[in-house]
Formats: sequence, C-alpha cells, structure tokens
Amino acid sequence: MRSPTPKQIQRKDWRDDAACLDHPPELWFATRTNGHRDYAWAVRICRHCPVRQPCLEDALRLEASASRNNRFGTRGALSGGARWVLYDAARRASLDIAA
Ligand code: SF4
Repeated sequence: MRSPTPKQIQRKDWRDDAACLDHPPELWFATRTNGHRDYAWAVRICRHCPVRQPCLEDALRLEASASRNNRFGTRGALSGGARWVLYDAARRASLDIAA
C-alpha cells in the first residue's frame, strides 16, 4: 500500500481535484451566444473532470429554486439553462409521484 502524497494529506474536499483549477475561470462564464468557443472548451474540460458529479450536485443545491435566468456559469458540463431544465424535470417528477 502506498503512502499518501502531500496533496492527498492536504486534501479538503472534492474541489481540490477540479479540472477547472488549471484553466482561466472566465471560460466557465462564457455562453453559447457569448463566447461559444470558450463555452465549448469549458464543457469539454468538465466532461472529463473527475469531480463532475459532486460539482453538479453542489450547483443544483446552491441554486435551489433559482430561476432559469439566475443560474450562472458552466458547472458539471451544464449551462445554467440546462441545470434549470434538470431541476425543473426533477421537481415535476416529484410532483407526479406525490400526486
Ligand atoms: S465539473 Fe467543470 S466546473 Fe465542476 S469542478 Fe469540474 S471542471 Fe470545474
């Protein structure tokens, strides 16, 4: 069994493994209509990020019931609009189950 590396010892949470840490943050605030190339690049990096799932869960939790227009940036390879669609589908499904 290997000894933990210094990075592993200092690890605080999933954010330490975020692929976006090594790239300019503005890429994650580009949109399909405003900076499509940067947006596409951010999505590509997110898709291969080792912490994509906890990142997306964190975004959905933080945004909670925020409107579609109040979800900013790319998280977990999804735009704010796409996260709203995901949130709305989950909300509707829970309503259907409860009905
Ligand atoms: S999924 Fe994307 S935004 Fe989230 S930590 Fe990874 S690279 Fe960053």
